[in-house]
Amino acid sequence: MKTLNKLEEFLVARIKAHGPISLGEFMSHALCHPRYGYYQVNDPFGSKGDFTTAPEISQIFGEVIGAWVVDTWKQMGAPQSFNLIECGPGRGTLMADALRGTSGVQGFLDATNICLVENSTVLRKKQQKQLSQYSRVRWWSDISEIDDSLPVIIIGNEFLDALPVEHLMRNESGWQKKEVCVTDDDKLSYEWSPAQQHLLSFLPAKTSSNETYEISPVRHDFVAKCAGVIRSKNGAALMFDYGYELPCCGDTLQAVRKHEYASVLSDVGLNDITAHVDFSSVVSAAKSSGCLSFPVRQQGQFLASIGAQYRAQYLENCAAKIDDSEKRQEVLRDIRTSVDRLMSPNEMGELFKVCCFYSGFNFNAAGFCA
Ligand code: SAH
Repeated sequence: MKTLNKLEEFLVARIKAHGPISLGEFMSHALCHPRYGYYQVNDPFGSKGDFTTAPEISQIFGEVIGAWVVDTWKQMGAPQSFNLIECGPGRGTLMADALRGTSGVQGFLDATNICLVENSTVLRKKQQKQLSQYSRVRWWSDISEIDDSLPVIIIGNEFLDALPVEHLMRNESGWQKKEVCVTDDDKLSYEWSPAQQHLLSFLPAKTSSNETYEISPVRHDFVAKCAGVIRSKNGAALMFDYGYELPCCGDTLQAVRKHEYASVLSDVGLNDITAHVDFSSVVSAAKSSGCLSFPVRQQGQFLASIGAQYRAQYLENCAAKIDDSEKRQEVLRDIRTSVDRLMSPNEMGELFKVCCFYSGFNFNAAGFCA
């Protein structure tokens, strides 16, 4: 029999002692257990890691987000001090790329306090290295810990998909929720048990029997918290992730390791576990906390309307000056394939979405209007 790893031993012992845990609690331990969680022990990004995210594909992603942040800051009245908050910054690549091009913008960097919401100590170290040239960088485990009253701009890429989800299904005995239990031979397994009433408020208005509904009270609370901060301090949020725009049914929970799908319940802590984001519930959480929101856009549309292709063209023009023809071809190829990956509908362009919510100023958000 396969031996259990430390995190599996912990989960098996806990479930045996206290009973089955919800799917969300399982996901939270698998990703964020303080000693053995996936993000605590791994740097999962890039071709040698488990998955590749947009900022790791191309510098253009972070650079155009940097331009978006500058434009937003100006529309907010260019406050002399504000918090630029990134949720789940991974290696810190997005923030580094976003800030790189902004030194020429008068007053912007002086006004910027970099706030990173990150609970992995391994990744905090990477972020510290990546952003070592900036003096005002601070780390937080939760957005509600940031206790000053400065206006905020919140950004995030592939953060919402890492927040725990629950699965609900209605059968002849009523609504059931998925739990993780332990079999007689100490294996983790699923079972359904009656769902608590408060979970049902997260379901879509219309539901069918015997279908799985994926809900995320944790994601809802997180977005509501961000929106509450924006409402009380003024500002805006821009969040990218893969997901869908209208509520629907289906199980999208997936485990990935070395760019291949894996089983959610095996090798716990060694696989990344994520779920597609229900953007309709993100937007409704933001609105219910008093923010205004733009219609959700596809990543490809957003990048096109904010001018990512012009940035790519500029980089191509720079690359065209490289003397070594082999190197030049390689760099040009890399720029074209990475832009294609980010924007093309059959790559990340359609599957990935972006949402924006704000409060406290008249906002014409770049990328959401054309
Ligand atoms: N934005 C980065 C990384 C995405 S992976 C990129 O696009 O490359 C998810 C990130 O969120 C990691 O940095 C992970 O450590 C962090 N994270 C996941 N769950 C978290 C939580 N509950 N609180 C804070 N950070 C979390």
